[in-house]
Amino acid sequence: MKRAAPLKGQQLTLLFDQPPPGPPARPSPPAAPGTRRLALGTFAVDYTLRRARRRSIGFTVDDRGLTVAAPRWVSLAEIEAAIAEKQRWIHRKLAEYRDWRARQPVHGASFVDGGTVPLLGRPLTLRLRPAARCTDRAGEAELHLALPASAGEAQVRDAVLSWLQAEARRVLGSRLQLLAARQQVQPRSWSLSSARTQWGTCTHDGHIRLNWRLVHFPLPVIDYVVAHELAHLQEMNHGPSFWRAVGRLLPGFEAARDEVRKLDLAALPI
Ligand SMILES: [Zn+2]
Repeated sequence: MKRAAPLKGQQLTLLFDQPPPGPPARPSPPAAPGTRRLALGTFAVDYTLRRARRRSIGFTVDDRGLTVAAPRWVSLAEIEAAIAEKQRWIHRKLAEYRDWRARQPVHGASFVDGGTVPLLGRPLTLRLRPAARCTDRAGEAELHLALPASAGEAQVRDAVLSWLQAEARRVLGSRLQLLAARQQVQPRSWSLSSARTQWGTCTHDGHIRLNWRLVHFPLPVIDYVVAHELAHLQEMNHGPSFWRAVGRLLPGFEAARDEVRKLDLAALPI
């Protein structure tokens, strides 16, 4: 498989002392629980305040929005004054981040109640269900996690990760079986990988490895990667006869191949 594109900057760490150019942006939607809102004339800035051992106020923009890190001795009024002073710059960075995120093939996961993770190209909403006995799907669009309401992001992430990996084993295994039935040569064995550089590999002795993160994407993407690795059982190169083998397994694979080439494995959230 082709190597994934390099990691893009997902996080912008902005120092308080940087200049604030750029036009103001639109007001944001209602503040999420746990965030603070500062009204500034016609707009509002939502942010999470983090008290830190540091000498200056720092601004970070990522999937959680704006996080302000401030020394313990700085008052809330002083923090709000700093935000007001840098508001144009903050709005510009938030807009830039949103644009960057919108261009990513898979939207970011957030490991909180009501957050989402992508599954087969669709968002799966996470729900903390303290009374549940185990992590389980609830209908098409929800994943119920047997965790207390107080569970932290790391705990939620771990539960989601193990569920997604089990789901990947099931889904990828069945696609591999389905597509392998279309050719003579069979894989000797297969396993999941969690490499950050490759979607799949096929060894000379017939072992196929498939990246579990494929389960984030729609089936045509998964099928292309599976067909690609299966075709390597016949041709251990990327020559014309290799691509003919891919075409026999998966007619019309080219669109999915182009899609996979655009995916950034290193930038996935989990
Ligand atoms: Zn290949």
